[in-house]
Amino acid sequence: MANEGREGGLGAPTRHPLKQNEPSFWDETELNRELERVFDICHGCRRCVSLCNAFPVLFDLVDESETMEVDGVAVTDYKKVVDQCYLCDLCYLSKCPYVPPHEWNVDFPHVMLRAKAVSYKKGDTKFRDRLITSTDMIGKVASQPVINSLINSANNNRLLRSALDKTLGIHKDAQLPTYTNKPSRKQHAALIFDPAAAEKKSASGANDAALKTENHKEKVTLFTTCYCNYNAPKLADSVIKILNHNNIQVQLAAREHCCGMPKLELGDLKSVTMLKEKNIPALYATVQAGNAIIAAVPSCVLMFKQELPLMFPDDEKVMAVAKAFYDPFEYLHKLHKEGKFNTDFKKPLGKVSYHVACHQRVQNIGPKTKQILQLIPDTEVKNIERCSGHDGTYGVKSETLEFANKIVRPIVKQIEQQQPDYYGSDCPIAGKHIEHNLTTEQEVIHPIDLLCLAYGI
Ligand code: SF4
Ligand code: SF4
Repeated sequence: MANEGREGGLGAPTRHPLKQNEPSFWDETELNRELERVFDICHGCRRCVSLCNAFPVLFDLVDESETMEVDGVAVTDYKKVVDQCYLCDLCYLSKCPYVPPHEWNVDFPHVMLRAKAVSYKKGDTKFRDRLITSTDMIGKVASQPVINSLINSANNNRLLRSALDKTLGIHKDAQLPTYTNKPSRKQHAALIFDPAAAEKKSASGANDAALKTENHKEKVTLFTTCYCNYNAPKLADSVIKILNHNNIQVQLAAREHCCGMPKLELGDLKSVTMLKEKNIPALYATVQAGNAIIAAVPSCVLMFKQELPLMFPDDEKVMAVAKAFYDPFEYLHKLHKEGKFNTDFKKPLGKVSYHVACHQRVQNIGPKTKQILQLIPDTEVKNIERCSGHDGTYGVKSETLEFANKIVRPIVKQIEQQQPDYYGSDCPIAGKHIEHNLTTEQEVIHPIDLLCLAYGI
């Protein structure tokens, strides 16, 4: 039965493809009509007011307009709402009763994305935003010897940071990531998947018992991610250690580029498509070899699991990669269900405050991180389900850092009240943002590293 006349949808949300290849997607008049329609429904609902700054901006525009309705808001002001959305998807998945299959068909993040894409195509995007979303390029440059130490010391230089704030719009108080001069993929080059070598090895040693054991071992491709590759290689090391400790062989794809999420959030769909064309063949080759894929950054997992399939629903390789992609704790939970997860823990963790990252929540996989951490004896995990407000770029821009700091406050408050032995987030960037806003000196620790600690590895 259709949802006609029913308040809210009770069916599981069904997300429609983005349809970025249809001319109507790019038609500004049609886009503004759709924005007005969705804004009007939101104005009558207002459930999402506390999720982020996009909704308060919208409701203020409506309340301060002459008619106090959406028709009183100038179309040119719609951008003010769009600029506050960082596509965390929470309003779609955790709040909105009007998502499809409801007849009102509200997909707030998708209409924001469409508005960002139209704006990007028109050239309305700042140089700063194009630069800071080029994570591959920045990582490659910043990890070079000499440049590496220059960039890392510039990040901590107050004078240079003030200049960067004034000239480029990177907030002087924003915490910028440190860059390594030993990228993870270089450190683990021996793990890079080589289909030709694998085939040759298999043909030459068909009777070799050791080779047969190796061939039967479960294998995982680690999508390193720009962040772990260039900023947090130790997190990638920890993922590898945990998988090996669970008798899983780890490989890296033959080539890897940014997953495309930063460019998606900018509305640069052309770059998203280019990155997809570079990443998918290499990942698909490992899927063909029987590998599952994981990544330690929830946004990158979401990109392959959900965003690319919604953009390219007819691309079989995209769909096969999506099917093989797991959140790390989702994968470990699968091992546990199959009786293959190593539960030989050496150290209890005590009280753990755990922030559930939005891009993990919207994967709809359930509280897998908590379920795994709770297997550790004498460990109590408390979930914190609020957005951290960082988003990778929203928390560094001059005009939005104050909102990012405001959004993270309820998380900080809960951690300070809980006084845990450890706290962490699935999203390492959100974790750093939380740490930066805490009034205590306690350091954040990623749930993957908590698992290493419990294993004693
Ligand atoms: S997707 Fe996230 S940031 Fe965007 S409007 Fe919804 S809740 Fe706010
Ligand atoms: S996105 Fe949905 S739940 Fe949120 S304010 Fe709009 S209509 Fe209401």
